[in-house]
Amino acid sequence: MADFPSALELSEALVRFDTINPPGDEQACADHLGRLLEGVGFKVAPYEFAPGRTSLIASLPGRGDKAPICFTGHIDTVPLGSRPWSKDPFAGERADGRLYGRGTSDMKAGVAAFVCAGAHLAGLGEPEAGILFVITAGEETGCEGADHMAKAGVLGRAGAIVVAEPSSNYPYIGHKGALWLEVETHGVTAHGSMPEHGENAIYKAAHALTKLEDFDFNIAPHGILGRATLNVGTIEGGLNINSVPDRAAFTIDIRSIPGQTHHEVIEGIGAYLGPEARLRPIMDVEGISTPADHPWMQEVYEIMTPYLGARPEPRGASYFTDAAYLTPAMGNAPTVILGPGEPQMAHQTDEYCLIERIDQAREAFETIARRWCGL
Ligand SMILES: [Zn+2]
Repeated sequence: MADFPSALELSEALVRFDTINPPGDEQACADHLGRLLEGVGFKVAPYEFAPGRTSLIASLPGRGDKAPICFTGHIDTVPLGSRPWSKDPFAGERADGRLYGRGTSDMKAGVAAFVCAGAHLAGLGEPEAGILFVITAGEETGCEGADHMAKAGVLGRAGAIVVAEPSSNYPYIGHKGALWLEVETHGVTAHGSMPEHGENAIYKAAHALTKLEDFDFNIAPHGILGRATLNVGTIEGGLNINSVPDRAAFTIDIRSIPGQTHHEVIEGIGAYLGPEARLRPIMDVEGISTPADHPWMQEVYEIMTPYLGARPEPRGASYFTDAAYLTPAMGNAPTVILGPGEPQMAHQTDEYCLIERIDQAREAFETIARRWCGL
């Protein structure tokens, strides 16, 4: 334990691995974490959804029957973006109380904080309930690592789940789901001077679009996450001005709330638009939420109060997380989104994490785990 890195040192070390996704290439970063965790007594198993795309499950068994507490985080990052950085994105540079680099906030500091908490707890003897780390690859492009492990049935059950995504150490009770659809209409092409010989796919798309403006999900808003929303983001169709177009397509971004299943949303929109519109899902990540008055959520609120200066109020995250796949696969355990990163720094140029929050998260994760595990 003496030579185990601090949460800040481990955050820096993780930032130095280039895990920009695409292409991802998380293997070296995952191996580094796997070796550290094995060194302190965790059992570590790697899972690859594609070559070099390595996720890890690390576990410290408990002596009783109580389900383990799970901490989860992803080790891939988004690309650097087109604007130049004023700091080296892979150096783990410190300045003004901040740790700079791609993936500091989103979310290598969060992973480092729970790994360090786990390393400390592993030295305290066999816990009553176990500790489980699910460290994922491929989150930024649609939770591929989490989805792969959920489908492979290797996750097991969890009693509670902490998703260490950036929240400035403020606990979020859940997030909306995201369902992206492409809607395609088809017609019959003809010369533009004789439209009566064709069937115009753009008109069909336009009818569908106009109808969608009035679409009602027919579900009451969620008390904390708000309403389900729908937005048409892109449209394309036609090859040239003097032909009747035989194909048009547009895309819809739906943000769903708990209580809606995406399967039903797709069916509902399909029935509403009729058989002329063909729907194809592009991305499908369900929402999750835990009631704010759940006893474990209340315990997390209590633990976080001294760090935040006031007891947290029920809030939701604006982004989606791997929990969309992990929580249902692990027995629908209560799930909190809580991590040291700054949510507004995610995916930004000159991304940073406040150094002070990293050790606070490590300490808070330790307390959350100790209470769960009876240590
Ligand atoms: Zn993230």
